[in-house]
Amino acid sequence: SAKARGRGVFRFYDASLNASSARRSELASRFKSAMHDNEFCLHFQPKVALDDFAVVGLEALIRWDHPEHGLIFPGDFIPLAEEQNYIIPLGRWVIDAVCRQIAAWHADAVPLVPVAINVSAHQLRDNLLPEDVIASLVRHDVNPAWIEIEITESSLIEDTQLARRNLESLAAIGIKIALDDYGTGFSGLSMLKQLPINAVKVDRSFIRDIRNDTDDAVIVASTISLAHNLGLIVVAEGVESKDQLLHLKAAGCDQVQGFFLQRPVSAQDIAPLLRKRHYTFPSP
Ligand code: C2E
Ligand code: MG
Ligand code: MG
Ligand code: MG
Repeated sequence: SAKARGRGVFRFYDASLNASSARRSELASRFKSAMHDNEFCLHFQPKVALDDFAVVGLEALIRWDHPEHGLIFPGDFIPLAEEQNYIIPLGRWVIDAVCRQIAAWHADAVPLVPVAINVSAHQLRDNLLPEDVIASLVRHDVNPAWIEIEITESSLIEDTQLARRNLESLAAIGIKIALDDYGTGFSGLSMLKQLPINAVKVDRSFIRDIRNDTDDAVIVASTISLAHNLGLIVVAEGVESKDQLLHLKAAGCDQVQGFFLQRPVSAQDIAPLLRKRHYTFPSP
């Protein structure tokens, strides 16, 4: 596998990847063979409850373990996959890989938590999305309660009707839906009322300076209050320090995600945390 090939090999992130259009088209032309050669993999980052520091969920994040360029992050190929009409098969791979992983943890007696899958704008409008999800759940004998969907606020700006039908089908089989990157996409309050959304994930741009920037602190506090009044859970993204975490806890935020507690890691590396289940933080 791509993972085995990469083991022990020292590789560099290619900083020119963004700039080079030749590289972009090279990557785009390789999607199909990359999938065939098993070069995509998932990393997992926990969502942690602020009341008792329990791990209450995971988010699956795709990576491309490229034989020449090393580990490529989704920001460098998800937009390409969208452009090249490759996001639907790639997204289908992610859904199936998440279900397969949940089944594998279950078989290893690893305690499960719901695993969130990021769904892109095009995928959200694909009328086969609910069927694809159900097919993977059935294939791996996974209960719908063990997966969640994250959609970005910006993906709801256009064609909300198409998105709504899929979201309602997914919600109807018990899949929870989170609004990702909240605060960056201008979707506004009406979306939260009209769609079957269970949680908002406050974008990390509001968390970064939350200790010093009064505007950010006010935006986050208001979002928490609004979301709670609508019966939604609030997750803060990009928590990188203890101070940010304590601020969010004091502000009544429900859950956090971020490098401070855990960077995204492989399925194998996240298993010990699932077994342990709680963080022992903050220490006195
Ligand atoms: P996202 O869904 O908002 O995911 C959070 C991103 O923030 C991840 O980047 C994660 O590694 C990063 N992150 C987590 N904690 C921290 C922190 O404390 N500080 C900072 N600076 N970053 C943090 P990643 O994995 O590079 O993913 C970027 C975006 O790519 C994701 O944003 C998501 O929109 C998209 N993406 C990832 N996996 C998939 C996928 O399977 N399918 C689709 N369609 N999109 C995906
Ligand atoms: Mg996400
Ligand atoms: Mg996000
Ligand atoms: Mg974000």
